[in-house]
Amino acid sequence: MSLLVTDLDNTLWDWFAAWHASFSAMLQKLSELSDIPQHQLEREIQEVHRRRGTSEYSYLLNELPSLLSKHPTSKPSEVYDEALHIQNRHRLRNTKLYEGVKETLQELQRRKVPVVAYTESVSYWSEWRIRRTGLDGLIKVMYSSPDHDFPTGVSVHQLRTQPSSAYGLRKTVHKHVPPGALKPNTEVLRSILSDFAVSPLEAVYVGDSLMKDVVMAQELGVYDVHARYGVSHDRDGYNLLRRVSHWTPQDIEREKELSTRPTVTPSYVLTEGFSQLLAMFNFEEA
Ligand SMILES: [Mg+2]
Repeated sequence: MSLLVTDLDNTLWDWFAAWHASFSAMLQKLSELSDIPQHQLEREIQEVHRRRGTSEYSYLLNELPSLLSKHPTSKPSEVYDEALHIQNRHRLRNTKLYEGVKETLQELQRRKVPVVAYTESVSYWSEWRIRRTGLDGLIKVMYSSPDHDFPTGVSVHQLRTQPSSAYGLRKTVHKHVPPGALKPNTEVLRSILSDFAVSPLEAVYVGDSLMKDVVMAQELGVYDVHARYGVSHDRDGYNLLRRVSHWTPQDIEREKELSTRPTVTPSYVLTEGFSQLLAMFNFEEA
């Protein structure tokens, strides 16, 4: 095998656990400080997320109607700075690689086998997580969704508060998939293979989602691997994500239906961790 394509969230790190820890702490603090019930905030948050097409919208608080009407002359993000700090603290603490991920990527680098990441998450937070987990450079190219919209009249540069060296990736090349191109999208995977001049039978694709990752790899005839260790069993946390995420009711229904009737059988399964890949395939330089 001369190319590894990997999903990021819940394959290299536990995105869901970090999201839940940070978001629920923020929500609780926000409700406490503003005296607005959580369920009302949740409803408004979902509307903003749907409008922005992401559940990781950085300017969320400034677009919540009940906060805006409560503070007509100031920015909610400033008034509720404490809630955002708590969110940030939990995000930092909980964003970490699964065991064995870094060592496996280092071994592939030693063997000169390129690793490509393909994520549906937006650009800004994907870069943040790559930096945070120390994977800048261990991943050769990352394909992500473009960033969400910025508030009207504001550019990304105006929103950045630190020098530009604090943002972006130094070694990993970052490319964007077309906006709205969601997994399973075999065209994106096909273009990754062609960028590296690798045939499907020389590539391995690994991801935690049967419906998105495994299906996509199988459709293209790439060796498909299910990162089963990344599947979360936190039902309550998942229900919160459903209530506030940008997913449409149709998305949620489809997902519920598919999860009760698993029709996808992965060819390879990682039960223990990412490093099992090294024993499953013979990775070597093309
Ligand atoms: Mg994933």
